[in-house]
Amino acid sequence: MNIKINENYDNLKESYLFSETAKRINKYSAENPDKKVIKLSIGDVTLPLTKTVIAAMHKAVDEMADKDTFRGYPPEYGYDFLREAIAGYYERHGVKIDADEVFVSDGAKSDCGNIVDILGDNDILIPDPVYPVYMDSNIMSGRNIQLLQANIDNNFLPMPDGLEKKPYIIYLCSPNNPTGAVYTKEQLAKWVGFANESGSLIIFDAAYESFINGDYPRSIYAVEGARTCAVEICSFSKMAGFTGTRCSWSVFPKELEAGGKSLKKMWERRQATKFNGVPYIIQRAAEAAISPDGYKEAMENIKYYMGNAKLISELLKEKGIWFSGGVCSPYIWLKCPNGMDSWTFFDWLLENAQVGGTPGAGFGAEGEGYFRLTAFGSRENTEEAIERLKKIL
Ligand code: PLP
Repeated sequence: MNIKINENYDNLKESYLFSETAKRINKYSAENPDKKVIKLSIGDVTLPLTKTVIAAMHKAVDEMADKDTFRGYPPEYGYDFLREAIAGYYERHGVKIDADEVFVSDGAKSDCGNIVDILGDNDILIPDPVYPVYMDSNIMSGRNIQLLQANIDNNFLPMPDGLEKKPYIIYLCSPNNPTGAVYTKEQLAKWVGFANESGSLIIFDAAYESFINGDYPRSIYAVEGARTCAVEICSFSKMAGFTGTRCSWSVFPKELEAGGKSLKKMWERRQATKFNGVPYIIQRAAEAAISPDGYKEAMENIKYYMGNAKLISELLKEKGIWFSGGVCSPYIWLKCPNGMDSWTFFDWLLENAQVGGTPGAGFGAEGEGYFRLTAFGSRENTEEAIERLKKIL
């Protein structure tokens, strides 16, 4: 063909981090069929949907089977019942959001990747290490990316000190994937202050807000001034086990504008053009997940995962291995022992303990020498992995 293609794709790393880890684990399993690999790698949940969610889905399925209650295309921005339920969820956590500022989507990943559609050629600030989608989606659009180094010296929480006061698109993820680091309200207030002074936009990824344990903001809008400078992206995936069910939301406050244009209106236009909404059955399930009963059940599941995190943390403490996370996030971020680099440790762990993890280097250059383990496994598998690690670490 003679068409022009998006050459920015040439600037991407060859494969997406989680595809590469899965590829190596699958190759090892194929070559060693007698060995059981325990995956503490990709951040996928393992507990099933809870009974309140399932009951809501069954009811919605029955509605779809009846001529009088059947639904066709859903509204592009989400059914009012879910937008209102999400606004109510914020209110329960002390944050006021209007239901029409909530945009229901099929995943935080989609929104993180799609938001570039409504933004022009700005300088981009991305923490390093962090969830790779921010970086890759901006590389795909050919943006100028500046990294915000996160390391032991700043407790993996980069701050705006020293940044030039010019408009940026700033990605923040708190609690952070992969490090588990969480911003305090004072720290977020500094970011919000910087964004408002410099005319920047913060894209705040709160996908792990439901894991917060302690006095940390669960939403950027808990910070005064955030409505004029921040979009928030959040998800049912980790909160309620929706990784395979697919439902999330983004918040675009009415006050957000650039060049006299409302970002909320632009997002409405973008979604109405390129997205046909989340299925009714799924939106009913999501509504149930944040109902009082559904949320209680979700919290029980999170408690279970955090029990795994505690076991992994105890092992690392016992072995004298530096780590963070595991308190407000389902991830444990550890320093690879004996000075190993991230991928060497990955291969070593797979070879010697048949335990899969995620190399820190895959989340950014500052992640080199670190490694991420997740608490999303079953208790049984986590315990078995710990027994194996005890012998080799
Ligand atoms: N944001 C962060 C920080 C994540 O870690 C993930 C998934 O791992 C997502 C977004 C994607 O969430 P979703 O399943 O809603 O697409």
